[in-house]
Amino acid sequence: MKKILALLLTLALVFTLAACGGKEDNSLTVTEGKLTMATNAEFPPYEYYEGDKVIGIDAEVAALIAEKLDLELEIVDVAFDSIIPGVQQGKYDMGMAGMTVTDERKEKVNFSDSYAKGVQVVIVKADSDIKTLDDVNGKKVGVQQGTTGDIYASDTVENGGYGEENVTKYENGALAVEGLKNGKVDCVIIDNEPAKAYVAANEGLTILDTEYANEDYAICFSKKNDELQKKVNDALKELIADGSLQKVVDKYIKAD
Ligand code: GLN
Repeated sequence: MKKILALLLTLALVFTLAACGGKEDNSLTVTEGKLTMATNAEFPPYEYYEGDKVIGIDAEVAALIAEKLDLELEIVDVAFDSIIPGVQQGKYDMGMAGMTVTDERKEKVNFSDSYAKGVQVVIVKADSDIKTLDDVNGKKVGVQQGTTGDIYASDTVENGGYGEENVTKYENGALAVEGLKNGKVDCVIIDNEPAKAYVAANEGLTILDTEYANEDYAICFSKKNDELQKKVNDALKELIADGSLQKVVDKYIKAD
């Protein structure tokens, strides 16, 4: 009798667990055998298109992680601010998009160990009268919707921002830079490495040094999938220890 009861309880538990998760029964990922990564592929050198393929630091590091986990990597390109909701809903296994770890995001998703650092900078036209961060006050600022640059810039002037009314939110970095070139905005606030890539690719732009704090980039996961987070962290540790991660970074970021 006890055995039957134990069996029934176990079955009940299995069904409950299966009903709760966004992913299939006890498989590690949303689609068995695949590692589905959401990104926003307008963020060079972390993720961008070469032809119809998404390449960059995140794409290559994710491929190395997938290989270690014996999974096939699939990259899905979405708006930056749909990455976290999609991961929470169990549409994607992870989000990897030069994503900064913030306390607010930590309430929604789990993060891996950090694998890179970023800092927010200001891109202006080379002949702009904006020479310092203070000069940005009262000017039109372009940002990528939902990014840390957006959060800083949209804050009130008392809190060190430039006021929501002065901020234009673009779907991605490339469109924000277009806005700057067309004179729709006077500057763009974005992470330093994409800023360098955009300035290199577009004549007549330059970067202001800023004192914004360093940000840690990490991969995000659903709070329901600790197991994947742990496995990816183990893979990341190995890739850091054996120099593979640095090799990918050096391929895309040349020392100044
Ligand atoms: N690091 C910034 C953030 O997390 C921007 C990331 C991005 O645009 N891909 O908000």
